[in-house]
Amino acid sequence: MPTPPPVATDAPPAAAADAAVQPGALYVVATPIGNLGDLSPRAAAVLGAVDRICAEDTRTTGTLLAHLGLRRPMTALHEHNEDRIATGLVALLREGRSLALVSDAGTPLVSDPGFALVRAARAAGQPVFAVPGPCAAVAALSISGLPSDSFVFAGFLPPKAAARRERLRRLGAEPRTVIVYESSHRIGECLDDVVEALGPQRRVCLARELTKRFEESRAGTAAELRDWQAQDPNRGRGEFVLLIEGETRDGGLAEGERVLRLLLPELPLSAAARLAAEITGAPRRKLYDAALRIGGSEPGQD
Ligand code: SAM
Repeated sequence: MPTPPPVATDAPPAAAADAAVQPGALYVVATPIGNLGDLSPRAAAVLGAVDRICAEDTRTTGTLLAHLGLRRPMTALHEHNEDRIATGLVALLREGRSLALVSDAGTPLVSDPGFALVRAARAAGQPVFAVPGPCAAVAALSISGLPSDSFVFAGFLPPKAAARRERLRRLGAEPRTVIVYESSHRIGECLDDVVEALGPQRRVCLARELTKRFEESRAGTAAELRDWQAQDPNRGRGEFVLLIEGETRDGGLAEGERVLRLLLPELPLSAAARLAAEITGAPRRKLYDAALRIGGSEPGQD
């Protein structure tokens, strides 16, 4: 009787199977954004097998390695030194050493250091491999209920209010879902600015403390989310991803016209257009034109 083929359970565990790393290769390894259970077996295997780990903060990564029962040589690689040390690290790759690159949380290079090293390794012709895993932006998008077929990741918004509003206005014209990172210091102001720059009706989603004990996410209009967030000080704590629905094809014009029709019998044409634009976020000029079409009048015109 022929020997049956080995069943899947005979296969070595994924971690052991992937433990071997290629000499001279750089591995870009994603780490958890809160829940340590999200570190993949392959990520653990690679971290345990490389000659050296380049870490944004060696203490943070040291804690992760201790949790995994691993000890590896580490080099600190952060935004202030990565340009300077990339050449030396590439020299190690050329000698045949293997390196892993990690940040404090999530996927390196996504609002995190690592770009200079990856670019230098590629320029030198050294292999670069992804060990994919957690990323707050993608995790938030996947649960947001906003269109996910096409999106823009815009990193952190500017810390100063005027620049932030200007950036939001520009991003607000984007037809794709926009994803931004925000800190607990500014989330309240940021939501105020979204209402101001994009109008109260724009749909948004706020995801807080993903994969952690106090994880929560909520979707609604910009005004609803601003009010919801302001109701409870706990909703201002932790780490945030804000997602903004892309501008719909009519730029909110249909809703703007609906409000305009309610206001026109009560107000002069330009005041009605201005208020309808403020309430809905639809372009004022287009509402003014719509008001002329609908048949409103300026004071003294009738
Ligand atoms: N490289 C990381 C990634 O892949 O998501 C992002 C690093 S960036 C320096 C840190 C920002 O990511 C935080 O300020 C927050 O906006 C977002 N973030 C990180 N972890 C998060 C979490 N667990 N929940 C919500 N947002 C998170």
